[in-house]
Amino acid sequence: MTKPSGSVGAGRRLGVDVGGTKCLGVVIDADHRRVADLQCPTPRGVGSSDRLIAQLEALVTSLIAAAGEVDSVGIGLPGLVTRDGVLRAAPNLDGINDLPAQLLLEQRLGRPVHVDNDATCATIAEWQLGAGRGVDDLILITLGTGIGGGIVSGGALHRGAHGFAGEFGHMTIDPDGPACPCGRRGCWERFASGTGLVHLASGITIDGATPTTGEQIVNAASDGNGAAQSVIDEVARWTAIGLAGLINSFDPAMVLIGGGFGAALPMFVPSVERHLRDVIYQPDQRDLPVIKAASLGARAGSIGAALLADTANR
Ligand SMILES: [Zn+2]
Repeated sequence: MTKPSGSVGAGRRLGVDVGGTKCLGVVIDADHRRVADLQCPTPRGVGSSDRLIAQLEALVTSLIAAAGEVDSVGIGLPGLVTRDGVLRAAPNLDGINDLPAQLLLEQRLGRPVHVDNDATCATIAEWQLGAGRGVDDLILITLGTGIGGGIVSGGALHRGAHGFAGEFGHMTIDPDGPACPCGRRGCWERFASGTGLVHLASGITIDGATPTTGEQIVNAASDGNGAAQSVIDEVARWTAIGLAGLINSFDPAMVLIGGGFGAALPMFVPSVERHLRDVIYQPDQRDLPVIKAASLGARAGSIGAALLADTANR
């Protein structure tokens, strides 16, 4: 619910998206326009839990100084976040475990703070303000280093019993597949993500060398490199295999794809749709969901964090 413009923060809401390398902060006004933007590096190494909390306190304080008082503060964290804002595990933050982020930030800032998973925040943003606006049943997958995601079902965000819903990246797709940093083997994100792209491209060369980043492969495929295009098609097949399970389970009207595949999406989406028909249950008896690009880009997480207060009790 939007606060009336006569409230202390005039409907302004603050959100921070904590990533593996940087924290992106934003303040949006009652009309969802961006009124302040700040970022800082994500601390790493020894003592990173304490430094992360100190860094977030400083970032929130600076954003409020820049934008004026706000009505709510939300933080998106990459990992398993409980419903009461404890970061249980975060493999991409030097393995921070059991960090009571919400409690510590509320103590330091002296105000309520909403904390949730970063991909859940991105889902809220795309659903409320982005490509999924007005859609009651949608799934977001973000294809980056790994795969994050979120579910909107029946017009409500699906958080799950513990707040952990949407960790699609660690569905086992091949029990004998490559090792995953989570400790298991053959997780979906080993095949269908930037990491999967590099893994599947290990036999090809681009400009005389084996590609080391998903971006190189996406760019080469966009430039017409046939070998890179074949790798993208193979990643699309693995993406379809995982998506089929999600679509069989949740029957969404729309699947949004966010993350680093932007330049490749015009060739990637039709490829996913084609493979999906081979692996989904009863393809001829159903309408496949619309599959399209998420629209808020790298800002989806911070904007969604700013909207957390609105969805916290739904
Ligand atoms: Zn895994």
